[in-house]
Amino acid sequence: MKRFTFEPRCWYAMELISSEFGPNIRRFSPIQVYSVTPVGGGKRRLELSFYHAAYPAGVRDKLYTLQTIERTEHFLLALVVGTERIALFMELTDDWKMKHAPETVTSTVQSMPGPGSEAKLKDKYTACLLGGAIGDALGAAVEFMSRAEILNRFGPEGITDYAPAYGGKGKITDDTQMTLFSAEGLLRGRMRGVSKGIAGFDHTVANAYLRWLATQGHECRAVTAEKDGWLFQQPELHSQRAPGMTCLSALRDYPGVPETAGNDSKGCGGVMRVAPVGLYWRTFNGNSGLERVFEDGCMCAGLTHGHPSGYLTGGVLAVLIFELLNDKTLLDALGAAKILLVAERGHEETLAALDKAVELSQSGTPHHIAIQELGEGWVAEEALAISVYCALVAESFEQGIVLAVNHDGDSDSTGAITGNMLGAMLGTGVIPQRWLEPLELREVIEAVASDLWTCQEWHSFMDNDGLWERYPGY
Ligand SMILES: [Mg+2]
Repeated sequence: MKRFTFEPRCWYAMELISSEFGPNIRRFSPIQVYSVTPVGGGKRRLELSFYHAAYPAGVRDKLYTLQTIERTEHFLLALVVGTERIALFMELTDDWKMKHAPETVTSTVQSMPGPGSEAKLKDKYTACLLGGAIGDALGAAVEFMSRAEILNRFGPEGITDYAPAYGGKGKITDDTQMTLFSAEGLLRGRMRGVSKGIAGFDHTVANAYLRWLATQGHECRAVTAEKDGWLFQQPELHSQRAPGMTCLSALRDYPGVPETAGNDSKGCGGVMRVAPVGLYWRTFNGNSGLERVFEDGCMCAGLTHGHPSGYLTGGVLAVLIFELLNDKTLLDALGAAKILLVAERGHEETLAALDKAVELSQSGTPHHIAIQELGEGWVAEEALAISVYCALVAESFEQGIVLAVNHDGDSDSTGAITGNMLGAMLGTGVIPQRWLEPLELREVIEAVASDLWTCQEWHSFMDNDGLWERYPGY
């Protein structure tokens, strides 16, 4: 007798049967098979890797281990190993789609994102963090030089390859260090959520920044953060790379309760480190929840920067990253961010800087003059505006990064923010090898990007070998 089998790249109907489902669970879904692998010889078990069309974007790649119960010509009935669920797989017919697939699912199937769409998105996570680190490392050697000095030393194209800084080529600075600790704070918040049921990230992000402070040889006066977790153990992070004075002083004075810093600083040390907020929320929220993305971006920057331009820029950048991962254009992403920005007190400076960046990008002004008009980037709204300008006019990843570091101002920070955006837009395929290979902490950065993606699969630290030690939930 002919028996039901899975073929890679083919669509099937899946129905899940369980007593645990509430009314909102997606029990019926079209799936597209990526691969099917028999496991455990003779036990009628198989591993099915597939695209789950009824799940929100970002969490559609699934891997089930199935224990066959019954297989006929027309269906396969199997236990989903590790759960109480039974899955029924059948041919995906038009009748079935009419009956079971709601409109959204039907349109997903029609748009056929196909295998690889999740991999493409995950690649953009990696590119976002690597891009930021590359811009940071390229700018590191020229952070405190004027454009004239840069051209004088590196020639008419400016700096286009890593030059020695902080003891070598391709060394990252505080921008990337703090970005990694932002990610750590979010991931440890996630761990706290899945293991203790406590939502919110402000405590865990603040604690992560206190660990960064400790890597710089300083301690907070009021509280001591635990020096644990995987990131703190990376020896290369224990190095001073011109850390921002506001970050150091605000964290030394951190009162032990997360709140917007009591200073009036709007240095770019807040906005430069918030890209992981956009990545983290993209993992969970698909196309909705921009308010939360904005709010958490502001929170992360605001822990050290108390001026509205110091923290609202963090909210804007987090939304930009989130929307770029949704394949929005940068102009559309800016539109979405501005709606949230203008509702906040003290938004005027940031809004004006962003509008000026867009206007200049469409004006035909020579790039170096346009960037000069936007400022030097030591303050947050200028750093964000210069970065937005560079990402808007960039014809390639490489050109955008080179533009972002060859100016009078804070080259590593504008390089980092521009790299975050271009990475989220373009993926890793466009990053030149000559920048990628010597990059300090490349594996750590890639691992953190991957963790920001896979943390959607964390359900309890009990099931995840070693994850609690990697990201303790406090
Ligand atoms: Mg720096």
